[in-house]
Amino acid sequence: MQTQAKVVIIGGGVMGCSLAYHLCKEGWRDVVLLEKAELTSGSTWHAAGQITHSVSHYGLAKMAAYGTELYPRLEAETGQSCTWHGCGSLRVAYEDAEVDWLHYTLSVGRGLGHEMEIIGPERIRELHPFYNLEGIKAALHTPHDGHVDPAGVAFGLAAGARQTGAKVIRNNRVTGLSAQANGEWVVQTEQFDIICEMVVNAGGTYARQIGQWVGLDLPIANLLHHYLITEPVPEFQALATELPVVRDDRQVSGYIRMEQKSGLIGIYEKADATTVWDDGTPWEAENELFEPDFDRIMPWLENAMERMPVFAELGIKRVVHGAITHPPDGNMLLGPSGLRNLWLCCGSQVGIAWGPGAGKYLAQWMVHGAADISMASFDPRRFGAKIDETYRIEKAKEDYLLRHEIPFPHLDRPVCRPSNSKTTPLYEGLKARGAVYQDIYGWERPYWYATNGVPQEHIHAFRRTELHGIVGAEVNGLRACAGLADLSAFAKLEIHGRDAVGFLKRVSSNRLPQKTGSVSLTYLVNPNGRIEGESTFVRLSEDRFYAVYAAAKEASLLNWMEEQRQEDEQIFFENVSEAYGVLMIAGPESRSILGACTEAALDNQSFRWLSAQHITVAGVEKVRALRVTYTGELGWELHVPMHAMRSVYDALVAAGEPRGMVHIGSAALNAMRMEKGYKSGHELTNEVTLAEAEVLRFARDGGFQGAAASLAPAEKWKLVCLRLEEPSAEQPLADPLGSESVWAGDACVGSVSSGGFGYGIGGYLAWAYVRPDFAAPGTSLSVMTLGYLRAATVLAGPVWDAENARLRADTRLAAE
Ligand SMILES: Cc1cc2nc3c(=O)[nH]c(=O)nc-3n(C[C@H](O)[C@H](O)[C@H](O)COP(=O)(O)OP(=O)(O)OC[C@H]3O[C@@H](n4cnc5c(N)ncnc54)[C@H](O)[C@@H]3O)c2cc1C
Repeated sequence: MQTQAKVVIIGGGVMGCSLAYHLCKEGWRDVVLLEKAELTSGSTWHAAGQITHSVSHYGLAKMAAYGTELYPRLEAETGQSCTWHGCGSLRVAYEDAEVDWLHYTLSVGRGLGHEMEIIGPERIRELHPFYNLEGIKAALHTPHDGHVDPAGVAFGLAAGARQTGAKVIRNNRVTGLSAQANGEWVVQTEQFDIICEMVVNAGGTYARQIGQWVGLDLPIANLLHHYLITEPVPEFQALATELPVVRDDRQVSGYIRMEQKSGLIGIYEKADATTVWDDGTPWEAENELFEPDFDRIMPWLENAMERMPVFAELGIKRVVHGAITHPPDGNMLLGPSGLRNLWLCCGSQVGIAWGPGAGKYLAQWMVHGAADISMASFDPRRFGAKIDETYRIEKAKEDYLLRHEIPFPHLDRPVCRPSNSKTTPLYEGLKARGAVYQDIYGWERPYWYATNGVPQEHIHAFRRTELHGIVGAEVNGLRACAGLADLSAFAKLEIHGRDAVGFLKRVSSNRLPQKTGSVSLTYLVNPNGRIEGESTFVRLSEDRFYAVYAAAKEASLLNWMEEQRQEDEQIFFENVSEAYGVLMIAGPESRSILGACTEAALDNQSFRWLSAQHITVAGVEKVRALRVTYTGELGWELHVPMHAMRSVYDALVAAGEPRGMVHIGSAALNAMRMEKGYKSGHELTNEVTLAEAEVLRFARDGGFQGAAASLAPAEKWKLVCLRLEEPSAEQPLADPLGSESVWAGDACVGSVSSGGFGYGIGGYLAWAYVRPDFAAPGTSLSVMTLGYLRAATVLAGPVWDAENARLRADTRLAAE
């Protein structure tokens, strides 16, 4: 009987088995995996088993590639066959936007060293003589893709884990969890209790129920998905090699491949997505399948037959209709749950493809405190919307329906918005002015303002659209006069208590603001020297600070700080994110506009750059005014008690509009921060150190945790800002979106983290992590953008107001 362990993993599907295997690889041996029935008896056993490199999300692309590398060698390592079929695959495109997506994926994939090419119909015909190519423009060929026996994979990973020391216990259900005061957990099972340091919920469709035992409301629901196997295909009998898997997003909304000498068709219908077990998966369910629902998939099945005429006359031999978990945004839940020492490894909709990488990087995070890739997109604490039954189910359905849609940049997922979002009192008024909102940690934040008859909806494309001009007008309006933005989504935290100063000195890199009312920008650093987050700190009193940081990190950074607190430290965290709205007013006229709404003195002597004061604006008292903005212009962030937002806003508009003040969204803000050389959450991830992120001027020489590692010269990569040449006449009018590969001649030397058009300089700017030997200012590089190499040069510094004259609004500027 097992009574003690370092880690207990609940669930023996591909996710749990992969985590056990990789925890052992990272050096932990005292790992116990508990499965209520036989391994793989949840969703895993009935998966179609495909895995592809055709992924444009940087982290997922790395995970998928790792799977294709692990599977072919798993049998040799563990003795357990997982029947790897390395047949490659094709993702076909009918529309120009799909072709753009393939080019984007190619740039990301090539940067990661993945072999892939975009091919035309002739080459597709050679690789797959049976596919009806009518209307197909191109395909992404990924020759190292394949498919596996999913059960074999889970058994192989479990065998590997066992061989390295883990215990795998089957037929013993976990029945409860209780947290101990010392941070340990008691895992109750049908047969015995286990006390452990950490628990991982890898319960697949049961993960939500397991979470409920300890008060977690995991946003996942179970969607039903079909694949079908035809009778043997006569035309396949003589084939010497297996045909590549075809992914046809437009016509089939799914995948088609050979299953031995039969055909296999998987369909993600684009309507009537169906959930199951909304109130909980029955504990006695094992290897559960559902009756086929042909009505739901019929249009797509007919299309599949049209695309594969050799299937048309054949009967269907077998139908698999099973449940898969889907979270609201489609990404797995991998990481800390928010409860001490309870981790999540669930919410996986393509666990066979992503499971190996998920296990590998989660194991790194658990063992070393950080993974080798940014886990922000998978962090279970990333959801800020109100999670109720409707949200959980309808968002999961939305995700299912998007599975075979083009993942456009800034793809808007409209379901349950704004019903489950956080909005400010300005929501309706700004919408009436044309605000096009984006979802950011469950907040509705204006992204841009639709003007001149442009419809008020998200514009999705991989190329420049009319948005380019609209955002440019917002930037120019702010720089010419002033701009007003609702930035209430910022996370806001008060940190106070006897030990607040000592704590913050330990976990953050910069000098703390010394005097009450002073402000500093700092980085939260983990013991490995990697960046956990960037925050503005305002000193409110001797032992009280106000931290303002990226919306997306609200819960995760707070949770991280709570975990950094030592037992004897007296320190309190108060999340005031919803108590304060934020109005940013910036631009050369911002002082006079704000001045018209307040008695407070706003001149440089009375209100210094990088300082904060409580002021009264439009009769609203105790507005926290911070003289900082992300625009690089003179300006203030006004942190206004939420209930009083309208009063302050109305006053600013009344004073500002006659002078020419404009409303701006976060797209314009992004453009301005690029010219100013400011970094964002895309650059500042826990993959990198302070030295790698080039933020050493915000770091003391030492005296904070992880300092030695964080300050050490960058060896692996370094952040640079690139200025790209404008596309030539034959190149598509498109800009990097993030994750594209960066090249020096034939060598890939890095990848883009984020970018934006510099309207002041008339050129595109991109942050990129590159090999340090290519980081010197002036180095010529190129960025692979929609199939073309765009020439780029490493910049020496910000291209806009490098002296901060506009920010300081000093007399030189006034005299100009
Ligand atoms: C028809 C279909 C086709 C698919 N095709 C593919 C594909 O081609 N490629 C791909 O990558 N993915 C595919 N998938 C998705 C894939 O099956 C899932 O993403 C994956 O299996 C999820 O693995 P998991 O480990 O999270 O969950 P599961 O496999 O469900 O594992 C969870 C395990 O936890 C156990 N458990 C739960 N609660 C407890 C408890 N209290 N105590 C002990 N044990 C417990 C369960 O018994 C179960 O074995 C497909 C899915 C379906 C339905």
